[in-house]
Amino acid sequence: MLADDVLQMLREEIPQIEYERFIKNLSFDEESSSADMAVFVAPNLFIANWVKTKYTKKLSQLFELRTGIPTSVQITTKTRKKLQTTKQMEIPQTPSTASTKINPTYTFENFVVGSSNQFAYTASLSVAEKPGRVYNPLFIYGGVGLGKTHLLHAIGNLNLKKDKIVIYVTIEQFMNDFTYHLRVGTIEKFREKYRHCDILLIDDIQFLSGKERTQEEFFHTFNELHTSSKQIVLTSDKHPKKIAGLEERLKSRFEWGLIADIQPPELETKIAIIKKKCELNKIQLDNEIINYIATNMDSNIREIEGVINKLNAYSTLVNQKITLDLAKNVLSEQKKEQQKHIQLRDIVNVVANELNVKPSEIKSKSRNRQIVGARRIVIYLARTLTPNSMPALAQYFGMKDHTSVSHAMKKIKEQIEKDADFKLLLEEMKNKIKHLNSEKM
Ligand code: ADP
Ligand code: MG
Repeated sequence: MLADDVLQMLREEIPQIEYERFIKNLSFDEESSSADMAVFVAPNLFIANWVKTKYTKKLSQLFELRTGIPTSVQITTKTRKKLQTTKQMEIPQTPSTASTKINPTYTFENFVVGSSNQFAYTASLSVAEKPGRVYNPLFIYGGVGLGKTHLLHAIGNLNLKKDKIVIYVTIEQFMNDFTYHLRVGTIEKFREKYRHCDILLIDDIQFLSGKERTQEEFFHTFNELHTSSKQIVLTSDKHPKKIAGLEERLKSRFEWGLIADIQPPELETKIAIIKKKCELNKIQLDNEIINYIATNMDSNIREIEGVINKLNAYSTLVNQKITLDLAKNVLSEQKKEQQKHIQLRDIVNVVANELNVKPSEIKSKSRNRQIVGARRIVIYLARTLTPNSMPALAQYFGMKDHTSVSHAMKKIKEQIEKDADFKLLLEEMKNKIKHLNSEKM
């Protein structure tokens, strides 16, 4: 349907969070719409106003692009006939029933294996084939967008086929579920659910950090499942040892089974992944373009997918083949868009956190070796990820002038050349900073 297509096009262009939070809640009011007017209904005034100020112009452009007819877009909060359905949408789901769906396309078959993810892949496959009998728990860790969630779902998919009871949740959902049941006095229900499944898949366990009550509850969930040989699989952005604010007894349990890491994909694997995604989405890309994307984008596969989808949307829109020039444009636009949102403060915070120094130390004049190193990394990332000039950065960091900045840049570039691990570390930090920003929006 036209309206669906337009929303889909918009989806490719805006941060996922915004789409999920706002656009997804719109429903198209077919009866009130006409050839040159599209009416959408929002579940509440807040969403309506938000979409109005931010996206009506964009939406009307997309309609016009699609149909060739200048179209005005209206966002309302009520429709006479469809009141029933909108009402239903407004009723919040209680967390008790909100168990996240497993994405059927995240399978082992659709996962491209290379040396960067081979270990995690093989471990996941063994666990999926013999749940509770090989490694328990399986703990997968690695940077943003490298396939952790995909592997969790793949384990889930394989076992749903075998009629096992599979629960997939992010640790945040687990936590919400827990507090909800505590509040309404139905904690037994919660325990019944989480302690009586065959496979418990928990995503992004690092967010358990500092949540003492949930840790306590999760500790017991873990024990109960483990004792009865039910499989537990966890993912995290870092090794359990490095998760701050996590009880020792949990850390040690996370190491009972197998810990598998995922590294950023090498060029070859990146290319293979892009080819796979094109095949799955029936998108035609020349090898030249695939190589261009693979060499010019960071390792975050989610971001790469975003670019492929955008390319596809444009080419459908103008009904033309995707050219290298188009790919170059989309990539540079994406970069500019990201640059607009990244703040120096975020870069300082991420680097400080990763290297265990204080943000204030990075901005200080300290000559301590570790701090100087961290400061250089911040400067390098700031130059790469933001449009700030060298003099502007010198000013921000209280440096004499831009030569100090260019010196720092040079030092980091030299280190990247000779130290592959250092290069990886930078890559991970970059991903974290970008991720932070996609979440904020
Ligand atoms: P993470 O959970 O590590 O942040 P995801 O599992 O969400 O990353 O992966 C991001 C996207 O990249 C997903 O759409 C996933 O299908 C895709 N992806 C990542 N690694 C691979 C791979 N090796 N093969 C195919 N797709 C991949
Ligand atoms: Mg994930």
